[in-house]
Amino acid sequence: MSLSPGLLLRDFRLVDETMDMPGSVWIEQGIIRDVFPQGALLPETRLPMHQTIQGGGTLVLMPALVDLHAHFRDPGYPEKETLESGSLAAVAGGYGTVVCMANTKPVIDTLAKARTLKKRADTLGLMDLYPVLALTQGMEGKVLSEIRCLKGPLHESEPWIPMLSEDGKDVVSDDLLYQAMQEARRLGVPLSCHCDAGGPEAEEAKAAGKPREFWSRIEENHATQRVLELAWQAQGHVHIAHVSTKESVDLIRKAKGRRQEKPGPLGFTLTAEATPHHLCLTHGTAHALGDTTWGRVNPPLRTEADRQALIQAVRDGTIDAIATDHAPHTERDKLQGAPGFTGLETSFALCQMELVQQDRLSLSRLSSLMSASPARILGFTDRGRIAPTFRGDLMVVDTEAVWQVNPSLFRSRGKNSPVPGLPCRGRVLMTIYQGRVVFESFLSPDSSSGKGK
Ligand SMILES: [Zn+2]
Repeated sequence: MSLSPGLLLRDFRLVDETMDMPGSVWIEQGIIRDVFPQGALLPETRLPMHQTIQGGGTLVLMPALVDLHAHFRDPGYPEKETLESGSLAAVAGGYGTVVCMANTKPVIDTLAKARTLKKRADTLGLMDLYPVLALTQGMEGKVLSEIRCLKGPLHESEPWIPMLSEDGKDVVSDDLLYQAMQEARRLGVPLSCHCDAGGPEAEEAKAAGKPREFWSRIEENHATQRVLELAWQAQGHVHIAHVSTKESVDLIRKAKGRRQEKPGPLGFTLTAEATPHHLCLTHGTAHALGDTTWGRVNPPLRTEADRQALIQAVRDGTIDAIATDHAPHTERDKLQGAPGFTGLETSFALCQMELVQQDRLSLSRLSSLMSASPARILGFTDRGRIAPTFRGDLMVVDTEAVWQVNPSLFRSRGKNSPVPGLPCRGRVLMTIYQGRVVFESFLSPDSSSGKGK
């Protein structure tokens, strides 16, 4: 892949987790070389051969987003998504790095299968895809996958496997999950936990015919408690995926406090993510879309009290990152109850509108949650910030652009958005990957830009 020789991004509002200031950025050979405050001498006088992108107005330059949790359905389900459509959707949403879950057909449970996927994604050259390895063979929850045979630490032997996960379902056996956690610790990578193995109380509630929103809460709370206890014993780094209940938030907050009080001998690390849909929507949206069809997602959309607890948790650092859980499905699958929402192309706009424009978070904090912090969780020290030596993975956002969510225009094959028709303010207009423009927004007939471009 050829790297851009030089790219000057000029006169933007620059926002990352440590900065919000006017300035310009100089990228060379795919790497940020310089960040200039407004008024500083720019390199154009030194280097004649380069491309310039002019900012101004309401345009903001931010680090490209890093997604800890997406489903690209490839291999196996091209009617839902492919590597190509998923990658195009990712860059249209401002993403430069995406971690893909292993519940494909076949399941990604060996290094060889993961390597094939990674190579195909690299050939596209649009963004960095990182496959996770499943914890058990075929995700059947019976026998550990190839993770038990790999040499650690993975950041030395296979740095392109930054996470392990059985996402899609929980490993029901405590013993097997504990073994997987020990392997993850040995390999030096986080293990992302799905947390829906419900236990007897949830099963009783199900058998008694209680509604899903009732028993699924018991499931998540019980499963989170179980994972936290096993993780404390196994030590290592455990990451809790798509936290959705206020009780789970409390459990995570307490477990993080326990770590500070009594640090584990081998390095207990706990991180957690929430999705844009759980942070921005409630069960009212699911009812309106159809609880068993278009509104169905795992875990379900919850109450306003849960949503407020999640917002507090992203504010105070109990939740470390925002991850999409992008889960594309066909119309037929959704009508038959397949859980999940497509999310890569709306995540930034939703979070910006609901969290930043409502004064719950600064744009800088949102950048941390969607770029720098997930990069740290994956152990990447080269992305998620606008600073010299970091990668030239950036996005241009117009915080005032007015548009409307129209799933038929998504790059993703999954049109199953939870917010079809939603009027939005704020949009990703451009994505830059290693110093090259890989996405530029075109304005569709039903959308218009407020200012800027
Ligand atoms: Zn998932």
